[in-house]
Amino acid sequence: MMAAVRHFDTAPELKVRSFLHRAGFRFRVHVKNLPGRPDVVLRRYRAVVRIHGCFWHGHEGCRKGLLPSTNRDFWSQKIKRNRARDQRTGRELQAMGWRVLTVWECDVRTTRAPFVLRRLAEMVAASS
Ligand SMILES: [Zn+2]
Repeated sequence: MMAAVRHFDTAPELKVRSFLHRAGFRFRVHVKNLPGRPDVVLRRYRAVVRIHGCFWHGHEGCRKGLLPSTNRDFWSQKIKRNRARDQRTGRELQAMGWRVLTVWECDVRTTRAPFVLRRLAEMVAASS
């Protein structure tokens, strides 16, 4: 059941994409030829946005990032690997000159969402 780790087009991801689109940004999604296949790539701004699920990407200090009580070792190893991959691909992207912006699932699932999204748009537009 859990073999396919990547969850494409999740609700938080669609929310971020539709917000950016409405704000006038143009981008490509799930770009295969970039490290980690970033969720959103804004070439004009030399920025990528990664929308991370709190559980799969081990969001620290987040309730949604907590491990289940069963099979703890299995999940903790798996999520450790995901985090290591996120860090590695983030460094690779930066080395290629990309700015890497991360949005956490929990940030766009609460009433903070409008603030988080406006801030994201500012950061994307901040430099290029
Ligand atoms: Zn979170």
